Amino acid sequence: MATLMRIERIADYVGAEVTVRGWLYNKTDKGRLYFLLVRDGTGIVQCVVSMRDVPPETFEAARRVTQESSLIVTGTVRQDARAPGIPGGYEIAVREIQIVHLAQDYPIGPKEHGVEFLMDHRHLWLRSSRQWAIQRIRATVIRAIRDWLDSQGFLNVDTPLLTATAAEGTTTLFPVDYFGERLYLAQTGQLYNEANIFAFGRVYCFGPAFRAERSKTRRHLLEFWMVEPEMAFCTFEEMLEIAEQLVAYVVARVLEERRHELRVLERDTAPLEKVVPPFPRLTYDEAVRLLNEWAEEAADPERKAALRIEWGEDFGAPHETALSLHFEKPVFVTHYPAAVKAFYMQPDPQRPEVVRCADLLAPEGYGEIIGGSERIADYDLLLQRIREHNLPVEEYQWYLDLRRYGSVPHSGFGLGIERTVAWICHLDHIREAIAFPRMLYRYRP
Ligand code: ATP
Ligand code: MG
Ligand code: MG
Ligand code: MG
Repeated sequence: MATLMRIERIADYVGAEVTVRGWLYNKTDKGRLYFLLVRDGTGIVQCVVSMRDVPPETFEAARRVTQESSLIVTGTVRQDARAPGIPGGYEIAVREIQIVHLAQDYPIGPKEHGVEFLMDHRHLWLRSSRQWAIQRIRATVIRAIRDWLDSQGFLNVDTPLLTATAAEGTTTLFPVDYFGERLYLAQTGQLYNEANIFAFGRVYCFGPAFRAERSKTRRHLLEFWMVEPEMAFCTFEEMLEIAEQLVAYVVARVLEERRHELRVLERDTAPLEKVVPPFPRLTYDEAVRLLNEWAEEAADPERKAALRIEWGEDFGAPHETALSLHFEKPVFVTHYPAAVKAFYMQPDPQRPEVVRCADLLAPEGYGEIIGGSERIADYDLLLQRIREHNLPVEEYQWYLDLRRYGSVPHSGFGLGIERTVAWICHLDHIREAIAFPRMLYRYRP
């Protein structure tokens, strides 16, 4: 009896008779020989069908089978350095083929397709080895985040997705009608995370976040996934150390476990090998000075204009890209002007116009993957900030309670999963980092 094999485990089966269940990825016709590339979701294996060695009906099945047909193949595993596939270097000498479903003419061929076409066929595009590699790396990123946080004493406590209040500014809120009452999809779990640390010490929530982004960029989705660790009795400095250790661990796990996938993506791993703590830290003031220096030096007037920045302005994509390209490692930019950041961030006591916050910019031009801060622990100051932001004070009474009963210094951050995956996989656009992206003008399939 042949054993059912996952292709990723093929090295353990040399000499054995195995069965693989999957789909036809590609076929080469050599006359008396067919090379079938079969994928099963864990890898791709070359299956050799030789007219000499198989019954006529098996050879006929190899002739008939079309791209993306589902099939069950049985044969013997042998080593052959030339064999393509993932992991590659092994092939199956076929004895039997059972076609489960003969696929119609498959719309995605070997020729280049435009992005719009591929996005319209996202449900089929996911079968390509490139998309396969990205999703496998994404799963490892998520696994690694959970493993690291769990090992550091964080408790996973998830937060609601339907909320009554804004946390990250009212311009990107997604309203939901609930029998005439207005609710919002969560932009972040942060405010609830803060409640949870007073019960559980160190927590993280892990889930989707929703933001009604209005502009078309390579970095923004309407629905994205975020992990948000939050820590009681945690200073701003300690928060930065936790963030850099987490990111370094995630990258190391991908390098360790996803070599084949990185190779499919032709990802140069040298820049990833450098992602080791400590990461450089730069204040917003220093970043503004650098950007204006580069603007000064730039010959191209368009680039000059894109880089120039006034103190007080938030960074746009060109600023983040330039800063990120300047460093080999991810870089923390800290102490932004309070006016461009959320209401709950702790002002610097020496300079209340800036807050104790940090964005982590991924290298190679990727920009922000983490936003974090120390939170305001003082009741009066928080109330004042809620008022200054014209937020409805009644809705924040429960949040103010956290400053009434045992308030402590506390900090936390949010790490965007798709941004992190886009960087680690070296993608041009965030849309490939999630199976079914939701973006401006793109909600289907
Ligand atoms: P940006 O400045 O790029 O709009 P942000 O400062 O609004 O991001 P935060 O509120 O700090 O984002 O959220 C924490 C993290 O969530 C970000 O660092 C990023 O990784 C991710 N993130 C935020 N908005 C989006 C989005 N629209 N699509 C994908 N990821 C996002
Ligand atoms: Mg934003
Ligand atoms: Mg930002
Ligand atoms: Mg941010």
